[in-house]
Amino acid sequence: MISISHLEWHVAHACNFTCENCCHFSNHGHSVPVTYEEIEQWYDSWAHRIAPKTIDILGGEPLLNKRICDIVELTRKKWDKPSLERLDITTNGVLLNRYPDLPKVLADNNCGLKISKHGTNAEYNELWKGIEATALDWIDKYGINVDFWKSDVIWYKMYKGFGSTMEPYEDNDPQQSWDNCITGQDCWQIHENNLYKCAPLAYLPMTAKTYKLSSKWDPYLKYQALTPDCTDEELQEFFNRKAESFCAMCPKNPKILHRKNDPRLSRKHYEQIPLEVVHEEQIR
Ligand code: SF4
Ligand code: SF4
Repeated sequence: MISISHLEWHVAHACNFTCENCCHFSNHGHSVPVTYEEIEQWYDSWAHRIAPKTIDILGGEPLLNKRICDIVELTRKKWDKPSLERLDITTNGVLLNRYPDLPKVLADNNCGLKISKHGTNAEYNELWKGIEATALDWIDKYGINVDFWKSDVIWYKMYKGFGSTMEPYEDNDPQQSWDNCITGQDCWQIHENNLYKCAPLAYLPMTAKTYKLSSKWDPYLKYQALTPDCTDEELQEFFNRKAESFCAMCPKNPKILHRKNDPRLSRKHYEQIPLEVVHEEQIR
């Protein structure tokens, strides 16, 4: 059994938001479903080999998976080891009220919520007030552990442009990009029953199926995930890897992006912005 700090996976690739520069590329209109049965297969492949201290069930928007309550129960059952300190769903919170049974399921399975705030505009702030009120009610009635994440304040730019105009960074310094990795260096993903170094490398190929991406992404689309038939030595080596050539796609000095846009803008909005004016004025 290999101990690691964190592990996560999408239970839905789709998202009801289009947050600018989402590092899971979930703002790019992914719609491939993730089924309960697939997730169970992933757990059977990996839960007896990896002991993460924390697990995030996320997406996309995880509450777009209608079996979210069953998934929470399954996750607690399959990954329940003394080493697991926290199990959470990371969500934008919009759909919390769609699941009246969810707060009890969370409480019964010691699963928390990380609810991320994604904008600063007035209309979205109104929506946020409702999300916050629901979460506070669940804390009060069910004792659920809820963290509010200020993703509207701290948000890093990981690529330039959007869709077919999207480009990787070209700082050509994978070591420094890794040293300043915006995903925190332990964003390992299970995706399609394989292990990926991070969310950007896991979900880039899906983005390439939706948009004709610049050839500048070609080296990064060659990333090979670790498959369940790997040896224990290969698994340990995978988690020991630090900077890799693939890290060159990320900025060596990530900049904070001011998030003035409503996270519900259409993809068309971003598709129409030429790369050369990609909100450079919003970066500091
Ligand atoms: S809410 Fe925003 S940041 Fe989160 S997955 Fe959806 S698009 Fe990405
Ligand atoms: S490619 Fe490397 S630097 Fe970029 S997000 Fe992944 S692990 Fe971090």
